[in-house]
Amino acid sequence: MTSRIPPYQGNTRSAAIMDRARRRFPGGVNSPVRAYRGVGGEPFVAVRGKGATVWDADGNAYLDYVLSWGPLVLGHAPDSVLEAVQRAMQDGTSFGMPTEREVELADAIAARMPHLEMVRFTSSGTEAAMSIARLARAVTGREHLLKFEGCYHGHADAFLVRAGSGVATLGLPDSPGVPDALAKLTLTCAYNDLEAVERIAREVPLAAILLEPVVGNGGFIEPEPGFIAGLRRIADETGALLVFDEVMTGFRIAFGGAAERFGVTPDLTALGKVIGGGLPVAAYGGRQDLMARIAPTGPVYQAGTLSGNPLAMAAGLATMAGLTREVHDGIVVQTATLVQGLRDIAARLGVPFTASHAGSMWGFFFHEGPVRTFAEAQQSNVALFKLFFHAARRRGVSLAPSAFEAAFMSSAHGPQEVGETLHRLDEAMQAAVNGQE
Ligand SMILES: *Cc1c(COP(=O)(O)O)cnc(C)c1O
Repeated sequence: MTSRIPPYQGNTRSAAIMDRARRRFPGGVNSPVRAYRGVGGEPFVAVRGKGATVWDADGNAYLDYVLSWGPLVLGHAPDSVLEAVQRAMQDGTSFGMPTEREVELADAIAARMPHLEMVRFTSSGTEAAMSIARLARAVTGREHLLKFEGCYHGHADAFLVRAGSGVATLGLPDSPGVPDALAKLTLTCAYNDLEAVERIAREVPLAAILLEPVVGNGGFIEPEPGFIAGLRRIADETGALLVFDEVMTGFRIAFGGAAERFGVTPDLTALGKVIGGGLPVAAYGGRQDLMARIAPTGPVYQAGTLSGNPLAMAAGLATMAGLTREVHDGIVVQTATLVQGLRDIAARLGVPFTASHAGSMWGFFFHEGPVRTFAEAQQSNVALFKLFFHAARRRGVSLAPSAFEAAFMSSAHGPQEVGETLHRLDEAMQAAVNGQE
């Protein structure tokens, strides 16, 4: 890798494909944030990825920090994952019957998260979170849920209330189409506001308190010391279940996820992204006595034609096998270097900026910091973010096209890639500060 910034080839071919896409898909996309509404301009169309790099339809190469929004912890198209999927594929792509790989992946998860005594695989994080809500309501006999502003738990009706991710990027109000009667059952308060949680939990019988243990979908926001332990205490005192939505944080913020990082054990956990290694896999799980309430051992119904799909299980297994503690620790070192490098660049340029990371998940705001709530995230300089985003893209660095999304790292982002990224982002930030892309 040289440290010469490759000339940007433009995106005429991407634009032509997006023109066709817009005739077929709302906004030309199959998931809203991809449409670049958060930054303006035309998305690039991806054609290939390998390691730390993604290529677009015009031949531009980008050092990629989107990484499919988190799953690609070993980088794009790692040989071990490709081989595992190809091997599995030879035996058939789907059975709709039990397979051994499902047990192996559940074992691999439980080895790192022992509190996931039993799990159920689904195909998306949305399904996992939705099923947890149903289970929590069934187990407690209560209807209300408490979530936090800016946290995203997929797009099930119960969670499209003050949600993060694309909902936050687009600045949408709570979604039309969600019945009022249902939306009323989802209470929200500011992240890190333990007093508000305490007040609500003592007033309203809650089935569950759900959170992203480190927020990624409202921008990168960390819990303050004691926040998560406080939620555990309040849940226990009031009879609510504590749910970690680790679809994003799982196997990123620590080798064993949030329970390892914060020393707090949830009752139920949602997983996704990394556990599928880029194929559609998610899961929910937790205490055996709770999970036994799921059909067929219990009455709480939840199912999926492609759940536990053998290709997806193979990709997840290969990813978990590749993500040893040593590999994880190595990614964290590179993430720390990148984040510190960005802080140094911003400090040199005198730009209000705060950046942080938890394991291999990271993020930044053009804001003095600290950012503890989604409301504070919204006070960041989004106009400057947009310029920086486009300046980075022109210089071959792919960041999430929204000021309210986390960024990721992979084992393919070594010291050379990080050094090259900092070189490019230094130029990008200088350009942005001067009002240029
Ligand atoms: C991505 C995400 C989801 C939704 O997962 P999908 O697979 O996109 O449905 C839920 N919760 C969190 C925390 C996420 O980051």
